[in-house]
Amino acid sequence: MKKVDRETIYNKYNGRCAYCGGLLPKGWHVDHIEPIVRDWVNGTCEKPENENINNCNPSCASCNIQKNSLTLEQFRRNIQQFVNSLNQYSTQYKFAKKYGLVDETNTEVRFYFETL
Ligand SMILES: [Zn+2]
Repeated sequence: MKKVDRETIYNKYNGRCAYCGGLLPKGWHVDHIEPIVRDWVNGTCEKPENENINNCNPSCASCNIQKNSLTLEQFRRNIQQFVNSLNQYSTQYKFAKKYGLVDETNTEVRFYFETL
């Protein structure tokens, strides 16, 4: 990717991650909104048509890694089920909740770029 394209993508949301809204740290990632589905072994991708600047969002590393090859709606559902998962499997989370340290809001997941 050209340096000028990376700069355009960085500025898309004023230096913030398109998903969580955090300031982009050094080493921020370029996310493909519609995934390109890379084949790392063969160095190819399944959807080369998605390799264009209009399909790119600036992302912090953790959002990009979590989103992986998911579509936006799959990513949203993925995040939405985290609290259920914590309630099912995390003893620490269940304790924190029992002792009033956690307040579940049941808020719909909205990405930063959707709030602008
Ligand atoms: Zn983020």
